[in-house]
Amino acid sequence: MTGEGEPLRVAVVGAGPAGIYLAEALSNQADGPVAVDVFDRLPTPMGLLRYGVAPDHLKMKNLGTTLQRALELDPVRFVGNVNVGYDVTVADLLADYHAVAYTYGAAVDRKLGIPGEDLPGSVAATHFVNWYSGHPDIADDVILDAESVVVIGLGNVALDVARVLIRDPEEMATTDIPDNVLQRLRESPIREVHIVGRRGPEAAKFTIKELREMGELAGVDAVCDPAYLDALGDIEAIEEKEVRRNVEVFKDWSTRTLTGAPRKVIMHFHSTPTELLGTDRVEAIRFTKPDGSTYDIPAQLVFRSVGYFGIPLPGVPFDDKNGVIPVVDHRVQGGTVEIGEYAAGWIMRGPTGVIGTNRSDAKGAATAILADRETLEARDVTPGSVFKLLDERGITPVLMDGWNAIDAAEIRKGGTRGNARIKIAVLEDLLAAAAGTDA
Ligand code: NAP
Repeated sequence: MTGEGEPLRVAVVGAGPAGIYLAEALSNQADGPVAVDVFDRLPTPMGLLRYGVAPDHLKMKNLGTTLQRALELDPVRFVGNVNVGYDVTVADLLADYHAVAYTYGAAVDRKLGIPGEDLPGSVAATHFVNWYSGHPDIADDVILDAESVVVIGLGNVALDVARVLIRDPEEMATTDIPDNVLQRLRESPIREVHIVGRRGPEAAKFTIKELREMGELAGVDAVCDPAYLDALGDIEAIEEKEVRRNVEVFKDWSTRTLTGAPRKVIMHFHSTPTELLGTDRVEAIRFTKPDGSTYDIPAQLVFRSVGYFGIPLPGVPFDDKNGVIPVVDHRVQGGTVEIGEYAAGWIMRGPTGVIGTNRSDAKGAATAILADRETLEARDVTPGSVFKLLDERGITPVLMDGWNAIDAAEIRKGGTRGNARIKIAVLEDLLAAAAGTDA
């Protein structure tokens, strides 16, 4: 039972945009005092903003300033380098905090489930994105030794992947892209990127700004066969604005004449991937058209960008089919859950929406937690027990001053390419920077 004026203690698992927005929403309310600890298994916060948003999307990266401000709010504490479910269990958290909210995102790639998917040269978009973002989990193992590349999927991740591959690497030099990635892009012989979707242009999930950007890249011809558009009839009559605007872009590309630019991005629709062909590595991808016919695109690399997928946390109910934590109004359902567990962001709703979507989502979770306040405060908790356990287990959490030290170290490392920072991509080096023991 919590005493009068004592804060409601909330543990948030996952310090990405959803978790930070939730901490902010819990702090900025007049309902009563809260104390929010935002845990992350990495020593760095920001989640997909740091390890998902493409390095050349600098405007979006600026959102980091807003999220940093939220982490600096008085009731909020960042607790990095703690792998919840392993270093401490969910039961440990529930014994210390009145409420636990899961906001740890969707970490793995969805599978195609077709022959050849595991051949060398077949790369999950999640892996490639993590690699070009300097994620400490990822080995430096992406070799861009291909002239022709296929990207499967019509979502914004597919566009990010295609753009990073085809864009003039010198335009990336001033971003926070790691040195090894920049070097690999500079040496890459890639000339053609084929973006392939199983449905038509009207079903593309690209957002318009990102799609237009692709058609405006210097040194790149954007190509689309007019037959795909002819089949759609009167484009102006398409009611849904997002669809109409995307289709208009493809229409524009379909009427362009090749400029002789050194690189091309080529759209393909109504093409379901059925097999990756090759013996020792990918040599081509086979697609089936709606009439049952097949055709191959020769390519030495294929990036599978068919969506992210959430993974379960030990002790937390999970919907295996959809890769999400089941909830009603953000309250976790199933198993032994009574009250005290909540979810928001991709691990609750699946990998959809843009970063800003997490803000309204997080507000919903905060509303649910605050509405349950009285019942939550009646739970018997032992404040500080988790930090005691971590200490006993030899785990040193990285708190805000540790993250700020990493941030400062990365900014110090930057500047050599005219860029604002160079990310530290090795876990031990991140921990050394956090502890101030880096060189
Ligand atoms: P997404 O938008 O869901 O796109 C996934 C694509 O994969 C769809 O085109 C889907 O086609 C296709 N697909 C799924 N299974 C397939 C299969 N078996 N064979 C062939 N194609 C298949 O997912 P995402 O691109 O990973 O993006 C995740 C979220 O992050 C989205 O909400 C996205 O907008 C957001 N995001 C935003 C930005 C930005 O704002 N700049 C950048 C990156 C990501 P169907 O439609 O036919 O299922």
